[in-house]
Amino acid sequence: MNTSTVGINCEPFGTTLDGEEVQLFSLENDCGMRLKIINYGGIITNIDVPDRRGTIDDVVLGHDTLEGYLTRSRYFGALIGRYANRIAKGRFVLNGVEYSLAINNGANHLHGGLKGFDKVLWEACEIDNGIHLSYLSKDGEENYPGNLNASVTYSLNDANELRIEYFATTDKDTVINLTNHSYFNLAGAGTILDHELTIYADAFTPVDTGLIPTGEIRSVSGTPMDFTSTTAIGAHIDSEYEQVRIAGGYDHNFVLRGELGELRTAATLHDPKSGRVMEVATTQPGMQFYSGNFLDGSLVGKGGRAYEKHSACCFETQHFPDSPNHPSFPSTVLRAGEEYRQTTVFRFSVT
Ligand code: BGC
Repeated sequence: MNTSTVGINCEPFGTTLDGEEVQLFSLENDCGMRLKIINYGGIITNIDVPDRRGTIDDVVLGHDTLEGYLTRSRYFGALIGRYANRIAKGRFVLNGVEYSLAINNGANHLHGGLKGFDKVLWEACEIDNGIHLSYLSKDGEENYPGNLNASVTYSLNDANELRIEYFATTDKDTVINLTNHSYFNLAGAGTILDHELTIYADAFTPVDTGLIPTGEIRSVSGTPMDFTSTTAIGAHIDSEYEQVRIAGGYDHNFVLRGELGELRTAATLHDPKSGRVMEVATTQPGMQFYSGNFLDGSLVGKGGRAYEKHSACCFETQHFPDSPNHPSFPSTVLRAGEEYRQTTVFRFSVT
């Protein structure tokens, strides 16, 4: 049973261009972990955790001000919806009706469109040990069908676990795929190439040059995609393997072991220098492991730091990209009256 009492503080964090006031929530436990979240985009702005000597560092990328998130973000820390990752050509057919979504990434639709869940203001309230965010995405928003009532809770406990619970209902059949897009660097600086990674996945979904899954489920065995035994992220990132070349590193959906709907470990990340460890557990069938390939030093974030290529990595627990166009993938259809529920836990410790 979780008996922790997490201290919660709320303060203003500026106003959006529409004049809406944004709030910053700080959650702190008794073990030196602190989490900061804003209700714009449901963005996790800071995760402060101790290293093996007890020194606290912030292990996620982001901005010091709201203006940074409004004008130059790469989905830093944000909630992603209605559909995380890509839908080919922004098209899908549901119940015989074709839907056309915004094309905002090459020829494809990415992360919910022009104004996805990362760019809306969520209604926020404090709950025991966390905060509850909710958002009504109206029928036709970004051309998705159905009034979708989405809610997400972020909570913290004394085991240094950040738990994210997603819930949604719709009044019309629709598709849904929610995630969080935090960029982690357990050293709090430099790149993640020396971080050691284990991914509990025996297969991944290969992509075409537009990063759309081809439909194949391919074994990771004997390829640079094999993180079933612990491997430094940088070990094979410059390999000639076509999938790594296409993405400029890792930007792939891994097919997680275990039962869909069961909370099981998806990945373990370890920074040997600081000793920090992060375990990812999820109920989702897949996880996008993205090694920050599109960061190029031009974007300046917290503390004036320029975010270089591979300066962080993302573990976006999710359904597979472009599932609405791949009947063989686990379904992302949410029927009217049904409940969508997913849970992801990020657990921090040290070695
Ligand atoms: C995608 C990347 C994309 C990144 C940030 C990831 O989920 O797979 O291709 O560049 O998000 O936009």
